[in-house]
Amino acid sequence: MSDMCDHIMSDIPKVKIMGLDYDIEFVEQIDKHTRLSGQIDYAGQVIKIEKGMKKGLTGRTLLHEILHGVLDGLGYSDIRDNEQLIDGLSAALHQVIKDNFEIISSWCL
Ligand SMILES: [Zn+2]
Repeated sequence: MSDMCDHIMSDIPKVKIMGLDYDIEFVEQIDKHTRLSGQIDYAGQVIKIEKGMKKGLTGRTLLHEILHGVLDGLGYSDIRDNEQLIDGLSAALHQVIKDNFEIISSWCL
């Protein structure tokens, strides 16, 4: 079984962030000039994720872009593009969700 998850996650083409539906697109390359693995377009409501990453990295990248969208949705335009903050939060949240998945799934959300 492949360790990649872009084909699995592409079955979930949308993510709702602060009441807005963002399309999730898996692409070969985000930008040929920069080494980006993900990108969010706030106005176009699209999140692009690079294909071919391993499962954990894909999830963490998606969470990273979602957090950009959350801060945008909250109106924090001054910090929404703070990559250091977003990277730290996405790494921490990814760990908490991954290591507590059973507990979190049992919550009545
Ligand atoms: Zn970012």
